Amino acid sequence: MGSRNPDRLPQTGMLRLGRPGHAWVAKCFGCGRKSLLPVERILERFGERVPLPRAAARLKCGGCGRVGAAAYLGELPEPP
Ligand SMILES: [Zn+2]
Repeated sequence: MGSRNPDRLPQTGMLRLGRPGHAWVAKCFGCGRKSLLPVERILERFGERVPLPRAAARLKCGGCGRVGAAAYLGELPEPP
C-alpha cells in the first residue's frame, strides 16, 4: 500500500481496502446493471497487481451477458 506510484492505475489489490458505508460495485457497460463486485473471485483469478479496469473488463454481466464493467467504490444505502 502507499502512494509510491500515484500516476498508475488502481490495482486489484486495492479491492482489499474499503471505506465504511461503501462497497465495490461493478456496473455493466451494456445495460448499466450494478452488482457487488466479486472481490475474492477477482483476487483469486487475477492476483493483486492487475489494473482494476482491466480486471473489471473481464467481468460478465448477470443481466445481459455482456462482458465488461466499470468497477468503483459505491456508497451503500443507509441501513433502515
Ligand atoms: Zn448487462
